[in-house]
Amino acid sequence: MAKKTMAGPAKKAAAVAKTARAVTAATVPKAATSKISKLAASKRETPKLKPKFKPWTDAEVREAFTRFRKANPEPKGELEHLNPFTLVVAVALSAQATDAGVNKATRNLFPIADTPQKMLALGEEKLRDYIKTIGLYRNKAKNVIALSRKLIDEFGGEVPRDREALQSLPGVGRKTANVVMNMAFGEPMMAVDTHVFRVGNRTGLAPGKDPLAVELALLRVIPPEFMLHAHHWLILHGRYTCLARKPLCERCIINDLCRWPEKTV
Ligand code: SF4
Repeated sequence: MAKKTMAGPAKKAAAVAKTARAVTAATVPKAATSKISKLAASKRETPKLKPKFKPWTDAEVREAFTRFRKANPEPKGELEHLNPFTLVVAVALSAQATDAGVNKATRNLFPIADTPQKMLALGEEKLRDYIKTIGLYRNKAKNVIALSRKLIDEFGGEVPRDREALQSLPGVGRKTANVVMNMAFGEPMMAVDTHVFRVGNRTGLAPGKDPLAVELALLRVIPPEFMLHAHHWLILHGRYTCLARKPLCERCIINDLCRWPEKTV
């Protein structure tokens, strides 16, 4: 049974991994592509990592994700949402805000505005009231109204499934598009937030100077069978174990594999 549900995503993940370079060429601006190539060629691609770190072997990567899977077979994101539209809104609201803070606001908002049409009917002013506890709420309210309008005008009121279309929505960047494609549509995408960025660099699993470099490195090294949930495993690991200031290395399930020289075990 489990095999059946994983077959599609695993297949897609295989395609993603296999064509990581093609993905880079197709979806990343040329300037960024050449920047990443230079980064990859450079031995000093991350300032946080001392350059002499031994790269993870395939077996080590597989071992780490096998442990993540064993500890949490079905990891879930923590942003509350009711459907793909409310997920887009929640992720857009979560920029520079905590999931808990966003959830607190959207718990009242989503029951009355769970479609682009209802969001437009609510209007920007009332929307601001619902989300005023979230940072940058004025700008975010403007974007949510604009993206709702665009969804109606250009996408039949449905959230599109492809990255380019998603990124054409106001307030939706690459990270948000990846989260939506992963969580709403089960695509094996890797959204790099602050936690994934830190874990990728600190552990030496996927060093990169910027989120895009870490995303592409993770797509290259993570075996396809783990890609669907890898995003959540890494976020949760960063949020609850590999904390920014005081990582809990003694209870970390990959502490023997981690390359960070300052780990405390
Ligand atoms: S050993 Fe420490 S630094 Fe390394 S991944 Fe685990 S918590 Fe993070």
